[in-house]
Amino acid sequence: MSQVKHLLWDIDGTLYRSTPKLVEAIYRETYSRISSRLKIPYEEARKRFVTIYSELGGATATILKLGLSRELIQEAVESVDKTRYIKPDPRLREMFEVRLREYRHIIVTNTSKRGTFRTLEILNLPQEIFQGIITADDVHRSKPDTEPFEKALEMTRGFADQHVSIGDRDKVDILPAKKLGIRTIFVWGISKLADASVATVYGVPRILDSWRRQSEPRKKLLDAHRSFM
Ligand SMILES: [Mg+2]
Repeated sequence: MSQVKHLLWDIDGTLYRSTPKLVEAIYRETYSRISSRLKIPYEEARKRFVTIYSELGGATATILKLGLSRELIQEAVESVDKTRYIKPDPRLREMFEVRLREYRHIIVTNTSKRGTFRTLEILNLPQEIFQGIITADDVHRSKPDTEPFEKALEMTRGFADQHVSIGDRDKVDILPAKKLGIRTIFVWGISKLADASVATVYGVPRILDSWRRQSEPRKKLLDAHRSFM
């Protein structure tokens, strides 16, 4: 196992805990847009979305399957006033600036660039914390496709297992990353699929510290071996 160097962050529902009210508001906006584009009643739009979503696991993929353009999701997300649901988070900022300062941070999100910057602004996280930002605007296929993660690997040019995908959903943040050999941490709950799970996002440094300690004895052994040679 190599040392972890690069952290790939999901944004929504990961850097802040999604509240049911925020999620509901986004879905309402999504359904009403589907309803007006397909000229079907709201309830019919909701049913079609839910059915396809349960198969595909991604909102963007669902929208494409419905024959609509992916921008619909971004419009729906952006139309919701997030300041009503998310607050600045000094503890999160400190986590990045103090405990995680040695890592390289990359955003891997299905949200648009504009929506992503807006969320960082509301959380009071400086954009400069992140050396790379991969949003829905930068890829052909969003998560759960592996494309956004492949892009991140190209960006760092590191080995897959030097990366950790950190997110709140198995289907989009954990499974595609694992497929590429990227390590995974599930936040705000428990995942049977991720390499580790933490009850809150603030638990991430503890997991990384423990992985670091695990890889150290092996590194020392290698160093000792090398100096012996
Ligand atoms: Mg998420």
